[in-house]
Amino acid sequence: DAAINRIAAGEVVERPASAVKELVENAIDAGAKRIAVEVADGGKTLIRVTDDGCGIAAEDLPLALSRHATSKIDGSDLLNIHTFGFRGEALPSLGAVGRLTITSRVPGSEAAKIHVAGGKVEAVKPAALRTGTVVELRDLFYATPARLKFMRTDRAEAQAISDIVKRLAMAEPAIAFTLRDVSGGGEGRVTFRADRENGDLFDALHARLARILGREFAENALQIDATREGLRLYGYAALPTYSRGAAVAQYLFVNGRPVRDKMLTGALRAAYFDFLSRDRHPAAALFIDCDPTLVDVNVHPAKSEVRFRDPGLARGLIVSSLRHALAEAGH
Ligand code: ADP
Ligand code: MG
Repeated sequence: DAAINRIAAGEVVERPASAVKELVENAIDAGAKRIAVEVADGGKTLIRVTDDGCGIAAEDLPLALSRHATSKIDGSDLLNIHTFGFRGEALPSLGAVGRLTITSRVPGSEAAKIHVAGGKVEAVKPAALRTGTVVELRDLFYATPARLKFMRTDRAEAQAISDIVKRLAMAEPAIAFTLRDVSGGGEGRVTFRADRENGDLFDALHARLARILGREFAENALQIDATREGLRLYGYAALPTYSRGAAVAQYLFVNGRPVRDKMLTGALRAAYFDFLSRDRHPAAALFIDCDPTLVDVNVHPAKSEVRFRDPGLARGLIVSSLRHALAEAGH
């Protein structure tokens, strides 16, 4: 029922940035090549995510809004390590706590749209759209005033949105991203843009990291690529001379999904232990890919913790391959 949905929704969607994360992950899952994110007032009044992915068929629009009905976990997608969402909770949650409109078109069909506000789903209507999907979320948490109070300033929420869009963009160099601030209406202002990167995995990633973290990081980054017992670690880790005074330039991904995990950041720290003073932090963008059965990335829906079946293996892989790369670079 609507009240239960709203409570559950608060667990999945904590703030505008978590809504942006869910919507952008859906666009990535849909095979989009271009993803545009527009926000107004720190995402509080408007979040709009436009993609050129596979679209949702008109008859499936109501399903996309019903809790657990679409969960990718019971499909063959479970074995696809780059499928992010498999909880089937995001869209129903967003529809429970805000005003949500999904407009979509699958190739060869007419576009259609569906609207839900405070959990009340309206009928599917015809719409105009060339391709892909536009998800528009207005007035987040209008239906849950208690939640509204927890939101920070527009500026802080906009910053959190920018951070999550950049993290997601790091993991998907072949997808073009734009983030636009449309507060006050009109075309707005582009606050982040990353064009599609071409080339092999490392070339594309290196170019994307240069774009997001800056040339200096890219020029001081060691390429990492190591596999141990089904766990592959790859990405770039900066030379100790490029360390930072705060742990702000640490980007970790498990199966393509951004995570914040104490065990992993601890391993990163341990790898640089001999080269950094206590107040310096290593900078790195590292990806661990493995069979999804070896890791649980959904310990909590809105948190980005991970639980490896063998934490020692993940830790050892990070420490030894980074130390090896640092040694080869003369440390
Ligand atoms: P989940 O991603 O866990 O399946 P969501 O609530 O995030 O659950 O999305 C529900 C479903 O709606 C997805 O499984 C997908 O089929 C469809 N969907 C959502 N967003 C998009 C999109 N941008 N493009 C195509 N399909 C989408
Ligand atoms: Mg999803």
